Amino acid sequence: MRLTPSKIVCVGRNYVEHAAETGSEVPSAPLLFLKPPTAVIASGEAIVMPRASSRVDHEGEIGVVIGAPLYRVTAAQARAGIKGIVAANDVTARDLQKKDGQWTRAKGFDTFCPVGPMGQAPADLSSMEIFTRVNGEVRQHARATEMVFSIPDILAYASQVMTLLPGDLVLTGTPSGISPLAEGDVVEVEIVGVSTVSSPVVAERA
Ligand code: MG
Repeated sequence: MRLTPSKIVCVGRNYVEHAAETGSEVPSAPLLFLKPPTAVIASGEAIVMPRASSRVDHEGEIGVVIGAPLYRVTAAQARAGIKGIVAANDVTARDLQKKDGQWTRAKGFDTFCPVGPMGQAPADLSSMEIFTRVNGEVRQHARATEMVFSIPDILAYASQVMTLLPGDLVLTGTPSGISPLAEGDVVEVEIVGVSTVSSPVVAERA
């Protein structure tokens, strides 16, 4: 199954330790950016590292699938608009992110958004736990309680700007532990008990 969201809304620097590892401040409000829907791949499909980049990082993230239109809602109202949860990987060309000064190219390559099968959102969203493993080795591990902005707060904030439509995907930021991928790696993001996405990594051929 491949999701076809109208947009993918993402949050940058939503975990304190990740902001620190990138030398960035924790933002005072959710830092929003978009990934294009064409970046989505399903579990088992390959992340293709583009020739334009020499550093492609994994960013394991908790992904929220929207189930009902959300426009200018409160955090409490946003909760009812969640259809389910997916494991997601906000794959990032780190060198291009620094070089360009904004993130469209770095975050937007085809295959840069692996998404696992949708699982049920737990009653307590903050109870979720996320692991990112590369070749079976844990690189990222966090709990949703460590988020700077909670999932309902992110949805409410984004909905002040744009209508979140059924099927849209919201990526809620990555914990610390980002690291570069290499050809032949297999990267797996797991939301414990909810969803897992696994992606082999290949290099773009000339
Ligand atoms: Mg991210």
